Amino acid sequence: MQTPKRHIVLMGAPGSGKGTQGAILAEKLGIKSFSMGDILRGVAKGESKEAQSIKKLIDKGRMVPNKLAVRLMENELLKPENADGYILDGFPRELPQAKVLDKDLASRKYKKYNMGVDLVLLLQVPDDYVIDRIIGRYQCAKCKELYHEKFKQPQKFGICDVCGCKEFTRRADDTYETVVSRLRTFRSVTAPVIPYYEQKGLLVCVDGTGPIDVVSEKIRKIVGY
Ligand SMILES: [Zn+2]
Repeated sequence: MQTPKRHIVLMGAPGSGKGTQGAILAEKLGIKSFSMGDILRGVAKGESKEAQSIKKLIDKGRMVPNKLAVRLMENELLKPENADGYILDGFPRELPQAKVLDKDLASRKYKKYNMGVDLVLLLQVPDDYVIDRIIGRYQCAKCKELYHEKFKQPQKFGICDVCGCKEFTRRADDTYETVVSRLRTFRSVTAPVIPYYEQKGLLVCVDGTGPIDVVSEKIRKIVGY
């Protein structure tokens, strides 16, 4: 039996389902899924000078410099409780981050931990599919159960299946314009990471359309668990 891959980068445009698939994979492998957003929000709660300056950047909606982003991610990955591996959800976000991460994990300081990326999964979905997926979604105001105008309406119209609540909310940024602009950013900023990992022989593309369990089964075969 092959050993499953345990140092995984999960890539895909916004709305490709990588958050969902990352969570499933993390549970199956018994490791954690990390996103830069979560890490930054965690760090920003601290009292240190660095925490305060990161909080300022977040509040202004600015990006954290690449080297700092990578260092914060590495701090998490190298915690003893994460020794069994990691899933990076949407990280590295851009090519310089990918290069710094690789260089660091292969450096003398980190090499002994054997933490280098060994698989990059790219979830591929057509743009119109992403747009459909994102702008139709809404959730229960009370229990946060997720619904979708096209793919998952409550059994009884207007009433949450889980808790019976009749109020629903939508994320303010789930509009056509923001989705298109996020797709454009993905293409210009993040897409250059794809050929980089391809050249290293680490990239595997996965068709991300279709039901969640069909996609996660494809991923299971690739990861080898
Ligand atoms: Zn509910």
